[in-house]
Amino acid sequence: MRFAMVDGERKEPARGLAGTCTGCHQPTVAKCGEIKVHHWAHKSKLECDPWWENETEWHRNWKKHFPETWQEVLHKADSGEFHRADIKTDKNWVVEFQYSPMSSAERSSRNAFYEKLLWVVHGLRRKKDPDQFFSSLKVVKTVEDPVFRRACDVTSDKSALLRDWSNEKAPVFFDFNEPEILWCLLPRNAEGKVIVVEVIRQRFIDLHLANSISSSDIFGELFRFAASATSAEDLFLKFHYLRQDEKRQKQLIAEEAWRRNPFRNQRASRRL
Ligand SMILES: [Zn+2]
Repeated sequence: MRFAMVDGERKEPARGLAGTCTGCHQPTVAKCGEIKVHHWAHKSKLECDPWWENETEWHRNWKKHFPETWQEVLHKADSGEFHRADIKTDKNWVVEFQYSPMSSAERSSRNAFYEKLLWVVHGLRRKKDPDQFFSSLKVVKTVEDPVFRRACDVTSDKSALLRDWSNEKAPVFFDFNEPEILWCLLPRNAEGKVIVVEVIRQRFIDLHLANSISSSDIFGELFRFAASATSAEDLFLKFHYLRQDEKRQKQLIAEEAWRRNPFRNQRASRRL
């Protein structure tokens, strides 16, 4: 964990510091060694959050793109069950960074626990994963879009990564350590088809950080459309036109507001 409570404040670990877990409130010790990333560990092995995985440099690098208050956010259900989300954005998206393999049962329970869940999955854990992944894709559509680039149909089942994650109900972003790109596996559509979309990495981050609510709902919209799309091409056509329409609508609203502005004529005459 990156944070524990020290004297009533969320603090990062430092040599010799003692704290308490934000979840189970048991004592934690700061681990600040040379090999692993500096972290807090429970003093004794006990039942805390069973979903929490040991953090790697990869986890920390992802998390640091987001404000500290969004990191390691505790969720408690009425039943008393609690989990610590890697990131929870101000629009209530929970982003989980997954390095180790995980059972489908655990995946389903996370889906049930978090309402708006996105996965970012490390794509380089097994040597064969990238090759298998990319040779299973067929690019069917490229768009001029600030967020998305190419949409692909999945043409074979030889990728273990895609097999592991293709029944996931939440969208999965595979990170193959490409500086500009993530690959988003969309939830299976009604016909059982799987679609993968290339996403600009920085835009994935920016959209979460953006202040406007509509901008980060681009993901919500994309996933809604994915459910009804018959192919990657169909998905992009629907999605892209919708966004074009929205842009046009915003323009019309702005034009209308300008027309109705009672000071418009005054301002216009002042300019003359
Ligand atoms: Zn704990």
